[in-house]
Amino acid sequence: MKRLKCDFCGVYDSNENPVIEGENAAICQSCAKEAYDIITKHKQGKPLKDDKNEQSSEVEILTPKELKAILDDYVIGQEQAKKVLSVAVYNHYKRIFKGEKDSDTTELSKSNVLLIGPTGSGKTLLAQTIAKYLDVPLAIADATSLTEAGYVGDDVENVVTRLIQAANGDIQKAQKGIIFIDEIDKIARMSENRSITRDVSGEGVQQALLKIIEGSVVNVPPKGGRKHPGQDAIELDTTDVLFICGGAFDGIQDIIAQRKGGNILGFNQEKRSKEEKENIISEIESDDLVKYGLIPELIGRLHMIATLKEIDEEAMIHILTEPKNSLVKQYTKLFNMDDVSLKFDKASLKEIASAAIERKTGARGLRSILEDVMLDVMFELPEYKGKTITITKDVVNKTKKPKIAKKSA
Ligand code: ADP
Repeated sequence: MKRLKCDFCGVYDSNENPVIEGENAAICQSCAKEAYDIITKHKQGKPLKDDKNEQSSEVEILTPKELKAILDDYVIGQEQAKKVLSVAVYNHYKRIFKGEKDSDTTELSKSNVLLIGPTGSGKTLLAQTIAKYLDVPLAIADATSLTEAGYVGDDVENVVTRLIQAANGDIQKAQKGIIFIDEIDKIARMSENRSITRDVSGEGVQQALLKIIEGSVVNVPPKGGRKHPGQDAIELDTTDVLFICGGAFDGIQDIIAQRKGGNILGFNQEKRSKEEKENIISEIESDDLVKYGLIPELIGRLHMIATLKEIDEEAMIHILTEPKNSLVKQYTKLFNMDDVSLKFDKASLKEIASAAIERKTGARGLRSILEDVMLDVMFELPEYKGKTITITKDVVNKTKKPKIAKKSA
């Protein structure tokens, strides 16, 4: 049986986005909704946007300062990365939504971003926060799971499929979405300067990624997986997709130090202070990344480089308490729903923070540590109605039960 296809965006009929057929054309639910919105706006006296720019009515271009303010609500510290990302995102969407109208032939190139920072320092969180607030779809992929077409593993094209899924099948929306590729450093090719034996296929994956990052029309199976004859492919143009790549790039400090001609050896040695290591990484240049094993063409497509710092104890405490949806705020809300007040004393927060640092997974460790600490209290929560519960250092260490007091009015 012939599958219905939307004549506006090319998507095929699906449960999530059904296509209805008229006498001369077919339209999917999301295009119908968009058409309705445009016409309603027109009736209200607002000008109709031309076809190419109709999405701009959906995506409001925030200024870099506004974008950074949003990031500040959710991401602690990492000032340079927040600035770089805000500017990159602003330029990117300005290029898409405003650039097209210009008769000027100067071509604005894409400003894809490379985030360099240790695990759990907020790279994914930055991408997630930006995507959420711009209301653009986001696909997250791990470079280590990607393979060149024809090998066992995830085809690079599948990342594009994930983007379409994140856009609920809306191709137009997906084409203006964000793809975040983590662990890009793990597909570095072997270089003579590094002793680690590495799978040479890393370079093949880099080449495959390069193609989609540069901007190309990708044929993807709508439901993912290997292409097979039963599935009609969808075309997606990645020209306007913003790519954010992330990686820890362990050991790159040595390469930077070498280039700078300083004391060559020993950046991985403990005696080097953390500060020294962090400062040198902010001086990273493209050449260092080439030495590390990324192909120059790929680096050339990642115009903006930002570095993130390792989360220290103080930042851990801020992360626990400050972001709009911080863990402490979430637990407090949960407790309030049972008419229980929740308090964490200073020492308890410090203890949780230092436990997270020990795990060496950055701020990622905070959630599971806190969940473990809170389990027993949560189990008995409904019995504490009208009370105030204080979590102390001893509760975190599981040597004492939390303090329970009558709720002050
Ligand atoms: P990665 O750098 O490995 O991509 P993530 O962004 O996935 O790290 O961080 C994991 C989790 O840790 C986030 O979901 C968030 O809860 C917390 N986190 C990490 N860094 C920060 C930060 N700078 N500010 C606030 N929360 C953070």
